[in-house]
Amino acid sequence: MSIYLDNAATTPLDPEVFEVMEPYLKDQFGNPSSTHAHGRQAKSAIEFSRKEIAELLNCSTSEIFFTSGGTEGSNTILRGAVATFDIRNIITSPTEHHAVLHTIEDLANDRKLNVTYLDVDDQGHISFHQLEELLKDISGTLVSIMHANNEIGTLTNVERMGEICKEYEAVFHSDAVQAVAHYRHDLSKLKIDGMVASAHKFHGPKGTGFMYINKGCRIKPFIQGGPQEREMRAGTENVAGIAGLAKAMDIAYHDMEKDSAYILGLKNRMVEKLKSSITGVRFSGDLKDGLYTVLNISLPASEAGDMVLFNLDLAGISASGGSACSAGATTSSHVMEAIRSDPQRTTVRFSFSKFNTEVEIDSAAEQLAILYSTN
Ligand code: PLP
Repeated sequence: MSIYLDNAATTPLDPEVFEVMEPYLKDQFGNPSSTHAHGRQAKSAIEFSRKEIAELLNCSTSEIFFTSGGTEGSNTILRGAVATFDIRNIITSPTEHHAVLHTIEDLANDRKLNVTYLDVDDQGHISFHQLEELLKDISGTLVSIMHANNEIGTLTNVERMGEICKEYEAVFHSDAVQAVAHYRHDLSKLKIDGMVASAHKFHGPKGTGFMYINKGCRIKPFIQGGPQEREMRAGTENVAGIAGLAKAMDIAYHDMEKDSAYILGLKNRMVEKLKSSITGVRFSGDLKDGLYTVLNISLPASEAGDMVLFNLDLAGISASGGSACSAGATTSSHVMEAIRSDPQRTTVRFSFSKFNTEVEIDSAAEQLAILYSTN
């Protein structure tokens, strides 16, 4: 038995996406910068993909830049904004992904910037009031707040964030890696300056993503070299990856209502099963209005706790204890600490995709209950 419930770490490639990628890994191997037929073929695949993504997000093709994924995208936007504008202050949250937190720490050390971490409540929500109060008193500010948290699934209202940042003339970056292609983003309305996405979180290939950079927010590039991506991201493009990314977005947008309802059904099923089988089980984050793909389970302190991920793995169930980089770790993650989760309790993150089934959910819930009952 093999049950994959770690879709926030990465999702399986959709076979339809692989079909679209395959030719660019075989016969259509040209370098998009070459001016001959092979090159032009590759170039047109990239530009077709860019057009498709821009249409889905309701932005201009000139605002989409392909990258190797979320980490590179956030590095580019955060470092680019600091290098371009007179940024003296950064406001972020303690529950951001390390791609953002570590980049900000590095920038702050290098450039002597003032960093403020917003308070979060016990579900991981930031306070808009606190953000406004801070922005009233300072200028030259870069705000970085994620759309959907990868560990606890808490969502931030990026529309409201954008309005506030605009009002106080702050640059607004959002790590939307867990939200893009799970929710619709209308970038003609959202007042976001920079947003990043990663294909492997929605059944596309790993090592491919994009950043949206608003045309009013021209920043210096992070990676220097050739003229690719209109000099915003040097290096020969990952043509197959980009074609796969666009196809994965296209499928996700086409099936979004159907798939999101189905996945939410799986999540709710898991919640009900665990509530009825494990005494004292709790759920971290915003269970009611959080990301429908993520369920963060908080289990009562017990001897079974330390070994729970290991034992699930032995039973053929892949889950996580937090973000991918800290999977398997027994210490609680920075996100769990930020929401003041009881460190004695054990955290298991199950995350779901359209490829999961109710049978898998039932088996995983049953297995978790067995691990706890035999303690
Ligand atoms: N941001 C969030 C919220 C994530 O969940 C991840 C991946 O785990 C990343 C950034 C990093 O993205 P990538 O793997 O594409 O670099």
